[in-house]
Amino acid sequence: MTNPTPSFWSPRAAALEPYVPGEQPRITGLVKLNTNENPYPPSPRAIDAIMQAVEQGLERYPDPESTALRAAIARRHGLDSAQVFVGNGSDEVLALAFYAFFQQSAPLLFPDVTYSFYRVYTQLYGIQAELQPVNEALAIDVDALAARANRGCAGIVLANPNAPTGIALPCARIEALLRACPQRVVLVDEAYVDFGAESAIGLIARYPNLLVVHTLSKSRALAGLRVGFALGQAPLIEGLARVKNSFNSYPLDRLAQAGAAAAIEDRAWFEKTRAAVIDTREGLTLQLEDLGFEVLPSQANFVFARHPRRDAAELAAALRERAVLVRHFRQPRVAQYLRISVGTREQCSALIDALKEILRTCLRSEMAHVGPKSG
Ligand code: PMP
Repeated sequence: MTNPTPSFWSPRAAALEPYVPGEQPRITGLVKLNTNENPYPPSPRAIDAIMQAVEQGLERYPDPESTALRAAIARRHGLDSAQVFVGNGSDEVLALAFYAFFQQSAPLLFPDVTYSFYRVYTQLYGIQAELQPVNEALAIDVDALAARANRGCAGIVLANPNAPTGIALPCARIEALLRACPQRVVLVDEAYVDFGAESAIGLIARYPNLLVVHTLSKSRALAGLRVGFALGQAPLIEGLARVKNSFNSYPLDRLAQAGAAAAIEDRAWFEKTRAAVIDTREGLTLQLEDLGFEVLPSQANFVFARHPRRDAAELAAALRERAVLVRHFRQPRVAQYLRISVGTREQCSALIDALKEILRTCLRSEMAHVGPKSG
């Protein structure tokens, strides 16, 4: 008998539970509403800038500091370049931030229902995590979180609007958390903020412990380019740069730097496409409610909905059979919800048509099961 192949993984690698992103299958005619991408293309100016960058050649390394991109982001948000950090998608920015700020002796606080990558980073770095339960409406309980933070913590992480619920907190509530935790970093992940929530960027000047993280994957329709950024006072940004320069000097290639800067500068495209997503979200919410779904109030480019009489996993599977992809999380508290990205109006109509058919079929098979009434 041959020996089994030895495991070459380190004990730490073996113990990891990696994040599982939503699937990206190649199915013709697919209505893809499972990973919160933008249904519209990115700014044509971004595409032009990428083409120009290609023409300028790729034989040299890119600018390790992404100077022009950081300047464009700083201008857009009324900040200084020293208050801007950029990374290869906001996932990378988050990963570096967890390393830079949260490896402390106390636990890191974040909601029990939130972006599941936060838990993965804590496991990766061996950061102790303390999950704060969201309330019955699946909203973050800010008072409980602030009270807990007051007793000491490694920091707070929250997504605003939260994922996968879409529920947003007003800025004043973020400020309560910043005050409760003045010695530690409060990281506000604003991946979806452009779809209707209030940004905490205006608080940066007053709170040295605030780090706001954004992505170009959602409201800028550049998920394929991989660009995210963090905003905060210069010492926090310097902390991130220390970690980045100990890991990868060139996280953003030439194409990403050029395309992202052009996208940031194209205000008109940004306003037009985000308005279309917001408008479609409102229509989609009403149509889902008409079908009997309960839909959480969303300020994001997705809705989180459940049907009181239909199993979410079965609905997701039935939609998939009809080439409509939505996201279902087999997780406590949210296992009966579907997270549905807001697509184009046509994509949302296709989803609604498929759901109508599925719900009709369920009803028919239930009636057949009960059988004709006797008597
Ligand atoms: N934060 C949240 C809350 C998200 O949902 C996502 C997307 N999965 C990200 C961050 C990461 O986005 P990206 O890496 O594409 O910038």
